[in-house]
Amino acid sequence: KQDKHEKIDKQDRQNKKIDVEVGVLDDKKEAVVENDNTNNNDNIEESEEDADEKLLSKIKGVDLKFAKNILIESNRDQDKVYWDDIAGLEQAKESLMETVVYPFLRPDLFIGLREPVSGMLLFGPPGTGKTMLARAAATESNSTFFSIQSSSLTSKWYGESEKLVRALFQVAKAKAPSIIFVDEIDSLLGKRSGDGDDDTSRRLKNEFLVQWSDLSKAAAGRIDDDNEPPARVLVLAATNLPWAVDEAARRRFVRRQYIPLPEPETRLAHFKKLLNNTKNSLSDEDMKELVELTEGYSGSDITSLAKDAAIWPIRELGSKMLALKEIEIRPMSLDDFKHSMKNIRPSVNREGLAKFEEWAKEFGSSG
Ligand code: ADP
Repeated sequence: KQDKHEKIDKQDRQNKKIDVEVGVLDDKKEAVVENDNTNNNDNIEESEEDADEKLLSKIKGVDLKFAKNILIESNRDQDKVYWDDIAGLEQAKESLMETVVYPFLRPDLFIGLREPVSGMLLFGPPGTGKTMLARAAATESNSTFFSIQSSSLTSKWYGESEKLVRALFQVAKAKAPSIIFVDEIDSLLGKRSGDGDDDTSRRLKNEFLVQWSDLSKAAAGRIDDDNEPPARVLVLAATNLPWAVDEAARRRFVRRQYIPLPEPETRLAHFKKLLNNTKNSLSDEDMKELVELTEGYSGSDITSLAKDAAIWPIRELGSKMLALKEIEIRPMSLDDFKHSMKNIRPSVNREGLAKFEEWAKEFGSSG
């Protein structure tokens, strides 16, 4: 994840504020300040605040500081992601429709034998759209989205992360239907995070598994007194290292969806989407060539490539650009892409890919 275009992507995502990371909320003080501000603000926010207070008062047995942080993060105004924003990946979208969207929108139909799974794993090379899929699944199923980065649980929140996990599950239940998205699940539920003398990570892993199985038990066992179907919470996890996930944990992800590198049609759709708003001179033939040239590029590589290529018409002008009108800037061309391809190379290699395919064959869900 260190290479240049990954970084640009990360930056881009941060700029757009589409990445919520419960675990990286800077610190408690900041959260409190934010709270105070909203208190002084207009009525709409106040009433959201009231609703949250009510919700928090119902949550038992968790550290309220953490619960509050989690709520604030999940309420944050984010750019939503929709299915249409994601090029290709039809199979994954269908799978998510069946696992999350339909059951969350029609909980009454999905009970008993049709009880939805409580865990789904998205695995594949980095930058293939796993996070986007998770966000879109939340949007399309009208659910509350909670996102945590395993590495921040195991590093930054080290020591307190058990409390955070407990609070996360309770808040997710209270705000159901919810999706708890855990990125880099291999570092939270890894084969090695349970053994050796690393007590903290063992306790964290256990806490996560306990909370998760409580969810499934609650869902499987009962219909509430008032005949309401049980609160729906799905643990949706992503990993670039599926083989590092602990076996017991792997089994709990009943669905394991492979998110491969984009096929030619997907790359074409992706380039078209990206070029939609930018003046360009690429003919159908050029597009075909571009798609052929970018074999092995991930979705994130494609985005980075297009962004870099888009700068050429401006880059070559130097300071002259300051005097030009927008309309005088030349359109992007296939050559711009070819230029940029010298710097922006596929981030996944062939051997890496073979490993994913083997794992998918052995452990992936088909269809
Ligand atoms: P992952 O979680 O698999 O590492 P992300 O979902 O974070 O990948 O994707 C990173 C970036 O790559 C996205 O923000 C988007 O710009 C681009 N991207 C990846 N896959 C796609 C896709 N299928 N359609 C559109 N954009 C994509």
